[in-house]
Amino acid sequence: MIAHNFSIEFFPPKTAEGAEKLRATWAQLATLNPKYFSVTFGAGGSTQKGTLDTVLGLIRDGHDAAPHLSCIGSSRDSIRGILRQYKSHGIKRIVALRGDQPSGDASHGEFRYASELIEFIRAETGDCFHLEVAVYPEMHPQAKSPQDDLQNFARKVKAGANAAITQYFYNADAYFRFVEESHKAGITVPIVAGIMPITNYTQLMRFSDMCGAEIPRWIRLKLASYGDDSASIKAFGMDVVTQLCERLLAGGAPGLHFYSMNQAAATMGIWQRLV
Ligand code: FAD
Repeated sequence: MIAHNFSIEFFPPKTAEGAEKLRATWAQLATLNPKYFSVTFGAGGSTQKGTLDTVLGLIRDGHDAAPHLSCIGSSRDSIRGILRQYKSHGIKRIVALRGDQPSGDASHGEFRYASELIEFIRAETGDCFHLEVAVYPEMHPQAKSPQDDLQNFARKVKAGANAAITQYFYNADAYFRFVEESHKAGITVPIVAGIMPITNYTQLMRFSDMCGAEIPRWIRLKLASYGDDSASIKAFGMDVVTQLCERLLAGGAPGLHFYSMNQAAATMGIWQRLV
């Protein structure tokens, strides 16, 4: 089974050793032939240089690469400057987001929502960039209701988004239901499933608490039962996530986006079992 649209996400490394390690990681992952790699962007532009440096490194090595761009806490001028920079480097694809202020305080910026960023990017740069946006099959934690969240997705598409990538989830039905409801709401852009490999129980619980992704009880209990036995956690995680990907692709998901956490092994293991 092969996904039409297979992409892999990194975060910008903080140190020279991290950068070197990431280069080795992407060299390994490139053998899987992903459509593109994406690189996250810290809220308020905190990783602006690291994001661009990583994307340019990927492009230099011959890979298609997309920077993420989050707008919370930013001014129109600063976003305009970043867009100009991305354009001058021949970047063709951006993952456009609101982002989260570490303090939860968004009062200093000129953008409130991702839809405003997308409108701005289209107004400033026309069709220069292919724009991906974030969506949430289990609802964004700050949304008033699933219906409101869906309307927000529709707003982002109306503003010019070309495709969507979901927050990760382990419940395939939540994804299928979300896709069905999006279609009913007239949304036709591809909704690529975001996939988080399971390799570390504590880290997974921490992320999931922050982003509102549900870890089903049976998966949580099983992972907890392995304690420090990291090999069993990884083996179980590999089984669960591979089966999830199989179900998603068989059910018509147009692609998979792997949150690699800058590690090659888990994404490679899952992918090799899928093809
Ligand atoms: P929005 O689409 O603006 O939605 C945010 C909330 O506001 C939602 O609850 C929505 O329902 C609500 N809303 C939107 N418009 C309105 C309105 N007009 N009225 C009322 N409510 C409204 N974060 C980073 O900082 N850097 C990254 O690189 C990054 N990459 C990501 C990649 C993916 C694929 C995903 C799924 C998430 C990523 N995130 C990243 C996290 C993301 O920034 C957070 O989830 C953030 O809280 C929401 O971003 P958004 O773009 O979905 O926001």
